[in-house]
Amino acid sequence: MPFKLLYLHKIYAGMIDRNAKVLLIYTGGTIGMVENAETGALEPFNFSHLYANMPEIKRLKFNVETYLFDPPIDSSDMSPSIWQHIVHVIEDLYNEFDGFVILHGTDTMAYTASALSLMLDNLTKPVILTGSQLPIGKLRTDGKENLITALEIAADKDAAGRPIVPELCVYMQNLLMRGNRTAKINANNFSAFTSPNYPYLGEAGLNIRYSGQFILKPDYTKPVYFNYAMDPHVVILKLFPGITKEVVQAHLAIPGIKGVVLETYGTGNSPIYPWFTDMLRDAIEREIVIVNVTQCLYGGVEMHRYENGQRLEKLGVVSGHDITTEAALTKLMILFGEGKTPAEVNRLMPVPRRGELTVRG
Ligand code: ASP
Repeated sequence: MPFKLLYLHKIYAGMIDRNAKVLLIYTGGTIGMVENAETGALEPFNFSHLYANMPEIKRLKFNVETYLFDPPIDSSDMSPSIWQHIVHVIEDLYNEFDGFVILHGTDTMAYTASALSLMLDNLTKPVILTGSQLPIGKLRTDGKENLITALEIAADKDAAGRPIVPELCVYMQNLLMRGNRTAKINANNFSAFTSPNYPYLGEAGLNIRYSGQFILKPDYTKPVYFNYAMDPHVVILKLFPGITKEVVQAHLAIPGIKGVVLETYGTGNSPIYPWFTDMLRDAIEREIVIVNVTQCLYGGVEMHRYENGQRLEKLGVVSGHDITTEAALTKLMILFGEGKTPAEVNRLMPVPRRGELTVRG
């Protein structure tokens, strides 16, 4: 989708730290939506509407500038090419800003957070994704607190003048989370996100309390690497009792397919019917990388625990440990996009790159 990118005005230069500058990138999402009078459906709307409903931004004590995706989108329309677009914006303006906030719909926020965390390698500044469950124009909106706090986190520095959170995060409903560890877990509540397998990086109450020991430490002697590599030849195959040969076959026979996120049961178990293992064996022989990710929200894959899991391990299915489906999928896209061979992708999938998984035992 072609976007017109508008580099807008300075919103405010405050009193305390006039030098701090945060770039607010507006991609769309509920936060800026309005109701269509005829259909009653929420539709993306322009930034001036959002800005008009956010006089609080003017009271921030640092500079906020804006960069708009025009038209804004419902995040169900998110795509790898838009992720590349966002990375371009950040790369172009990286040296001019202390931090970045991305306004984004919540529906695919965990995918975007996972992709961007891997595309922004050795990130030295905060990039915070946020949005809301209710539009900013609604009295009970959760958008105001989310946006104001995300901006403050993006501008926050430690005593040495370094950013407190130099990594890609999601901030929603008082919780600051590593982006590639998040999952959207609630379609209705304001508390829509969690970080099931990694501690929160911070919590906002009367103050914002950061958990420094869990925050990534970049190598400040090295440059940030803006990675645009992306190969969409990947798929998610979710197991269910009664899954048929045709369903599995259809996934594994997709022309050009290179990687499969196999959503298994519990600690990484699958059926051991001969037709199922034969199909996986055949796919692995065709050099398709199959990554085992659990369907459970909490915990991870330990294929050695059960015979059914061990079968997968012996076939050459690679463990995703406690990675989310969103992070596994986007990591496959990036590794194949970088031109890695299937053997290299097999080796690299279980190795943490930006803190997206933990290997236990
Ligand atoms: N459909 C919306 C979106 O993801 C939902 C939201 O923002 O919460 O853009």
